[in-house]
Amino acid sequence: MTPPSSPAQAEVHRPTIVLRDVSKVYRRGAQVTHALDAVSLTIAAGEFVAIVGPSGCGKSTLLRLISGLIPASGGEITIGARRVTKPDGGVGIVFQAPILLDWRTVIGNLLFPVEMQGKPVVAYLPTARKLLAQVGLADFADRYPYELSGGMRQRAAIARALVHDPVILIMDEPFGALDALTREQMRLDLEQLWLTTRKTVLFITHSIDEAVAARRSRRRHVAAPGPHRAHHRHSLAAPTRARWP
Ligand code: ADP
Repeated sequence: MTPPSSPAQAEVHRPTIVLRDVSKVYRRGAQVTHALDAVSLTIAAGEFVAIVGPSGCGKSTLLRLISGLIPASGGEITIGARRVTKPDGGVGIVFQAPILLDWRTVIGNLLFPVEMQGKPVVAYLPTARKLLAQVGLADFADRYPYELSGGMRQRAAIARALVHDPVILIMDEPFGALDALTREQMRLDLEQLWLTTRKTVLFITHSIDEAVAARRSRRRHVAAPGPHRAHHRHSLAAPTRARWP
């Protein structure tokens, strides 16, 4: 790939994520939940951001907003020059459960989003195989998801999220359902992947250990304040941030 030659091009290739006064209110009948209030945040390209906080404080909401999966109730989110209003191929998403299609092989799962978008599958095959190798699944391309362990399935899901070469990888507690040892291994693998690709990674975790590991690895760490506020009002309005040089 040709390196970007101007600051404007660089911003397209390695965009900064900016949230300005973003809020999200969920309404269900008479029940109103203020999930996020006036969140302002800037995440530079290539940062690894761990988002930690108690259940219900708005972590998933924050990532779904940045992914364009749900609209904000107020404020503005931009990724580079693009205002986020819908999902975009520049963002890869990994959820807590791997959500693989059981009737397709591992490589078939990786190529599924490519097929859905009507893109030439053959052109993406080398990328898919390379990604499988990067996540330690080179020998499992033709296996089916039910033949894999939980950790391997989640690795396949991470590879699938990367198949379009997104500049941003968003992960919502991707290792939450795994046992402690597998989780630790996956965290190390993710760190290795990040070091190799230098994508911007936004990573939700319940685990203080994982957030502390992010700190040790000199990555930026955003902590969501707890405990919950009364009246279903939770906020990431003033996240505690620190930069470890
Ligand atoms: P976290 O990821 O930190 O556990 P969430 O972002 O999932 O928190 O949820 C924040 C708050 O918003 C919670 O009170 C949750 O019940 C509420 N919430 C999340 N999604 C919805 C939804 N689709 N409809 C109504 N309320 C929701």
